[in-house]
Amino acid sequence: MAITDKIYLKNHRQIASQLETSIPKSVFSGATLDLLFQGENLAQLNETTQERVLEFATDFLDCDCQSNPHCGHPEEKFIRYLLGLREQGLGPDAIVDVMGDDYMLYAYSGDVLSFLDDSVRTLEAVESLADVDERTEAADSARTKRRQLSR
Ligand SMILES: [Zn+2]
Repeated sequence: MAITDKIYLKNHRQIASQLETSIPKSVFSGATLDLLFQGENLAQLNETTQERVLEFATDFLDCDCQSNPHCGHPEEKFIRYLLGLREQGLGPDAIVDVMGDDYMLYAYSGDVLSFLDDSVRTLEAVESLADVDERTEAADSARTKRRQLSR
């Protein structure tokens, strides 16, 4: 399962009761995206929640794809957001805290940790493949990214 399947709405129960419907916990579940980002549903949420939901929409759901929000870009952007926090030197617990503050989302820090480990391993693999092929630039770029994540 991708890390984006393990990102949850922090105030899930509250949102479900404000919308008077059941809604999946996972924010990137198709049903959640459909339910949360309909204007009339949004209006039913309290102000703080609305702000965070809108913040999330602005930051991750802003592409013009016809299949938005189901085009895959929101997940890609969220992964970049997580990696960006890591590059700033944050550990899994701090990353979970920040996504809570930014978007009222949570994840288990163990899941974030394995996601970060996997990302480092993927970059290692890219690096050694590029080295074998003597693609110096690609190898260097993977190496730099890996070091940024491993600090
Ligand atoms: Zn898109």
